[in-house]
Amino acid sequence: MKYISTRGKAPELTFEEAMLTGLARDGGLYVPEEIPSFSSEEIAALGGISYEEAAFRIMWPFLGNAFGADEFRACIARAYAGFGHAARAPLVQLEPNHFLAELFHGPTLAFKDFAMQLIGQLFQAALKKSGRRVTIVGATSGDTGSAAIEAFRGLDNVDVFILFPHGRVSEVQRRQMTTPADANVHALAVDGDFDTCQALVKDMFNDFAFRDEVGLAGVNSINWARVLAQVVYYFTSAVSLGAPDRKVSFTVPTGNFGDIFAGYIARRAGLPIDKLIVATNQNDILHRCLTTGEYRPDGVSPSISPSMDIQVSSNFERALFDALGRDGAAVGQLMDELKAGGFTVPQGALGHLQDLFASGRCSEDETRETIRDMRAQTGELLCPHSAVAVKVAREMRDPHVPMVTLATAHPAKFPDAVEAASGLRPGLPPRMADLFERPERLTRTSNDLAEIQALIRDKRAEA
Ligand SMILES: *Cc1c(COP(=O)(O)O)cnc(C)c1O
Repeated sequence: MKYISTRGKAPELTFEEAMLTGLARDGGLYVPEEIPSFSSEEIAALGGISYEEAAFRIMWPFLGNAFGADEFRACIARAYAGFGHAARAPLVQLEPNHFLAELFHGPTLAFKDFAMQLIGQLFQAALKKSGRRVTIVGATSGDTGSAAIEAFRGLDNVDVFILFPHGRVSEVQRRQMTTPADANVHALAVDGDFDTCQALVKDMFNDFAFRDEVGLAGVNSINWARVLAQVVYYFTSAVSLGAPDRKVSFTVPTGNFGDIFAGYIARRAGLPIDKLIVATNQNDILHRCLTTGEYRPDGVSPSISPSMDIQVSSNFERALFDALGRDGAAVGQLMDELKAGGFTVPQGALGHLQDLFASGRCSEDETRETIRDMRAQTGELLCPHSAVAVKVAREMRDPHVPMVTLATAHPAKFPDAVEAASGLRPGLPPRMADLFERPERLTRTSNDLAEIQALIRDKRAEA
């Protein structure tokens, strides 16, 4: 199994190399050269087996010979052992033929744990073999950083540094980053906003001497291994509802297009998915693009579903690559136009994208209304991201096709917004009820690149 870049100018890599590299050297994203395909019998056989075994069967053909079968099984087992629900991604029913896939039973209460927990184990296994040591540096507005820290804490051969904007993440998010006591984990509270943090991380990756010195590695949402881990719950959900004999649809609260792209891969691999619906909040660049073909960022307006507040949806490039007939040069040209303000998807490619994805948008008022209504009608308390998707799903679904809406975070991760909408303050699950009593450990820093690089050198030496 070879991985190729969406811009066509970077070397082909193995799964393992693509995972450790993240972004391709030509600025593109890695995708599998061919998508493995599963027969109806193989899909039907996923019924009634554990989430872990299904994960093994679905991901294995994408790995080439990166890992041994037993080794990979062990990584999967360790990745999901800390989840608070035996089914890992349980379905609950909201109304006739409409189901919620609860993807928030991982250690940080958001769906990012599905990918991050696995990638932590896979990094560990790959690095042990090569004897390498890496430094993971990431910027976060909240969810990604806590998921990365939970995934890499206590692992050998990895130090993890997460930059977050001081005073601008929720208390639950901050505590999830600052309470792990492991020596290889470092939460850095930076003076500035999320863009400042992200720019600092970019500068570190572009400082090649520093990059080599500390063995810099990235685990942001463009990492192919993260997309792959998310393909699994599309299969397990659809099979629970009658696939492959019955088609199933999905609605996905979307920001960087990683989660919905995993659904697209599931369909390409043979899962009979009817509709794949992109749900956006008021930051609706994807909805506008899929309806008009115009992809023009016009500034982020902060919402109560902050993990979907994006200007540029990085994984969308992977969908464009396929829609453009895998023409890397054409993708590169659109991305150059994006730097200059935006682009228009060529007519043929737009038709292709519209065949693959439907889309809808949900305003702030509609998000609050949906949280309130669903609580009253079903007893289910939704996080604002999940509410965006539920609203779009209800509007667009075909009542004769089972609809699965992905619930991407636990309501307790966004207690203020949920309380304002519903009058109810969601409580943390019992296994983390003492989060507010655990001691915090963080390093305050200015937003000076040299200061942060020195800090990273020092802390690595100590760990
Ligand atoms: C990251 C995130 C999303 C968006 O997922 P993408 O893969 O970036 O589209 C949605 N909801 C929550 C809670 C998230 O943390």
